[in-house]
Amino acid sequence: MIDPILKAWQVDADHNERSCIVWARSYPAARREGAQQLELDWADVTDVTRIPELDDGVDDLLAWQLENGWHFECHSCYRRVTEDTGYVRRADALFCNEECAGKRLVKMLADYRREAEVSAMALDAFPGGRIDRVWSSEYGGFAALQMTDGTWKHFECAPAPAESETKP
Ligand SMILES: [Zn+2]
Repeated sequence: MIDPILKAWQVDADHNERSCIVWARSYPAARREGAQQLELDWADVTDVTRIPELDDGVDDLLAWQLENGWHFECHSCYRRVTEDTGYVRRADALFCNEECAGKRLVKMLADYRREAEVSAMALDAFPGGRIDRVWSSEYGGFAALQMTDGTWKHFECAPAPAESETKP
């Protein structure tokens, strides 16, 4: 499943506070790829080490990382989760407990619903457009649409009302 020329490397920044594993042919390639994954510059990388054990790939990288003492942030409350603290896993996301996993799901559903609303409003404003991107944040809802003549339109609306206001 992995190019045999590629080797596994662990790339660290902030002295192990942020790390990732990459497969690359050489140290410079691993460092570049790792910095990119961590959204840092080449110079921010503090360590690059080989992990021969992973050269042939691994079925479940996250499970391997947990077994090998890596720590992660809860996707909901950002508390530290490790093999020792225990965790709830949903796909590739880790949570400190079921409550946090549930909260995240509720938020994701609310975000999807809001994006569907913003899409509908954008299509009302620019009939015939094709939605290329849609997102919403505390600053409002946004959509980028491509029209049939190839031009682009940008749609903006007010932020979603707070949850308490939407309930009867
Ligand atoms: Zn949590």
